[in-house]
Amino acid sequence: MNIIKSLIRGNKLFRKYHFADFEEELAELIKHGQKPQALFITCCDSRVTPDLMLGSKPGDLFVMRNIGNFVPPYETDGSFHGTASAIEYAISVLGVSNIIVCGHSQCGACKSLHEDIPEDENFQNIRKWLELGKKAKEITLQKVYKTKEELYTATEKNSLICQLENLETYPAIKELLKSKKLKLFAWHYTLGDGSIEYYDKKSNSFKDLDDYNDY
Ligand SMILES: [Zn+2]
Repeated sequence: MNIIKSLIRGNKLFRKYHFADFEEELAELIKHGQKPQALFITCCDSRVTPDLMLGSKPGDLFVMRNIGNFVPPYETDGSFHGTASAIEYAISVLGVSNIIVCGHSQCGACKSLHEDIPEDENFQNIRKWLELGKKAKEITLQKVYKTKEELYTATEKNSLICQLENLETYPAIKELLKSKKLKLFAWHYTLGDGSIEYYDKKSNSFKDLDDYNDY
């Protein structure tokens, strides 16, 4: 089916069968404003579906998506920083107490860190943006992998750890972490089975999210 036709049909079905499920909560959220507890930073990839894969509802997550779920380090250069402004808004206006950076398997952005990006003008912003994965690539290449898939998965996971480090360069985040009012998470979502692993700082490894219990 044509995608636009399918989306219009989807919205009709949503209003007819599902909107009532959220009507009361949405009325409250409209009246009092949103108060999400988490900023969810993930990739633009169409196969990553936050509300579907997490069962989240309207008002639960403040979502920021970009290519590769990268977090640029804190900058004061006066440029247009979409990702940084979303982070600032989540922290300083909404007062979220959790930031989840969620990467995923088969991430095209992380894979492309190992490939040549065309030099032409239609790729110049992508080329620049992918510099945010440079450190993850370097860390990853310090080890040897049996397959390309293992290399890409390691890149995705190392990148997540780098993005957590970049989050900590934001003054407001540093402050909140010090006073333990904010928690940072790195999650890796597997497209093939819907499972999620989380980064465990203590063991410096990724573990099954089903076993996470430090709420
Ligand atoms: Zn991706």
